[in-house]
Amino acid sequence: MSAPSRTIRLDPPATAMLWPGVGLAHRALRVPEVALGSGELLVEVELATVCGSDLHTVSGRRPGPAPMVLGHETVGRVAHLGPGPAPVDVRGRSVAPGDRVAVGIYAACGHCPACRRGLPQKCAHLFKYGHAPGESLHGGYASHLHVRAGTPLAVVPEDLPAGVAAAIGCAAATAVAAVAAGTTGLGDLTGRRATVCGAGLLGLLATAMLAERGASVTVIDPDASRRAAAPAMGAAAALDATAEPPEAEVYLELSGAAAAARAAPRRTAVGGVVVLAGTVSPGAPLDWEAQDVVRRLLTVRGVHNYTPAHLAEAAAWSAEATARRPLADLFGVAHPLADLDQALEEAACGAAVRVGVVPHA
Ligand SMILES: [Zn+2]
Ligand SMILES: [Zn+2]
Repeated sequence: MSAPSRTIRLDPPATAMLWPGVGLAHRALRVPEVALGSGELLVEVELATVCGSDLHTVSGRRPGPAPMVLGHETVGRVAHLGPGPAPVDVRGRSVAPGDRVAVGIYAACGHCPACRRGLPQKCAHLFKYGHAPGESLHGGYASHLHVRAGTPLAVVPEDLPAGVAAAIGCAAATAVAAVAAGTTGLGDLTGRRATVCGAGLLGLLATAMLAERGASVTVIDPDASRRAAAPAMGAAAALDATAEPPEAEVYLELSGAAAAARAAPRRTAVGGVVVLAGTVSPGAPLDWEAQDVVRRLLTVRGVHNYTPAHLAEAAAWSAEATARRPLADLFGVAHPLADLDQALEEAACGAAVRVGVVPHA
C-alpha cells in the first residue's frame, strides 16, 4: 500500500533550471504537477543564493550527479501542504500556507542511529537539496521547491532581507555550527582571540557571530575585495594569506585552503580549539606534528553541515543581527532565474559575496 499523497497541478507549470553536466548550459525544465506526500510541502521560491559548493559542482571540482537541479540556500513561501499533520519548524511552530520559510539543506529520517545520535546531517536515509540527480523540484534554482518530510525549516520574518533569509539554510547555519564547535563551554568571549580563515559568506557570518560575543577576530583571505567586508562584520583585523595571525584560542578553517588547515596547530594557542569545516573534497592532506596537538592540548573538530538546532539559532541570529550589521550588503543584485548561468559566472568571479537568482522577478 502506498502512502497517501496530494497531487498539486501547477498552471503555469513550475520551472526548474536543470544542470546537464560540467561545461553545459542550464536548460529550463517545466513541471506541471507535484505529488506531495505526508509531511511534505511545496514552497514558492522567493530567492535562491549561490553557495560556493554549487560553483565547485558546476566547474567539476566536486563530482556531482547530472542532470540535476542545483541550489540549496532558499527562502520562499509555503504554497501547499501534503496530507497529514502540518510540519513544524525548528522552533516547534506549525507551518501554514503563506508562511515565509528558510529551507534547510537536507531531509533526515529522525529514526536511524545517526539521527538518534543527534547527527541528522549524516542520516542513513539522507536527502540533500540541490544534490539529487534527476528532473525534479528538489533544488533551489526553480520557481518551486518540493520539500520533503524531515527537512529543518525556519519561519522567517517578512522584513528579513531575502538574501539573509536564503543564506540561513547553508552558510548561516553552518557558521553557527562551526562557531559552536569552536567555543563549547567558553560563553562570553571577551578578551579571547579567534582566527577565521576565509572571508566568504560563511567566514564573514562566523566573524560577526564571534565578534558579537566579544572575541577579537582576525580574518584571513587572499582576496582583498573579500577582506574588505570583514571590518563591518566586526573583525579586528583582516590579513592576506601570507601574513601570520596572532595565536588564537579559536581557529576556524572555513576556506577549504589546504595551507590554512595545515597551519592550524601552530596558529592555535595552548588549550585552543581547531575547527575544520571548509574542506569537503580531496586534495588537502594534513601535515601536522602530532606533538603540536599534544603539547598545546589542542582540540580538533570537524564540522559538516549542521543540526536543526543550529538552523534555529541561525534564523534567530540573522533576524537580530541585520539591525546591527550590514548583512544585506553582502548580497549582490539578484538575477532572473533564466539567467542562472550568468549568475553562476558572476558568483565564480566574486562580484558579490553572495549572488542570487529570483524566479518571480
Ligand atoms: Zn552550501
Ligand atoms: Zn536518519
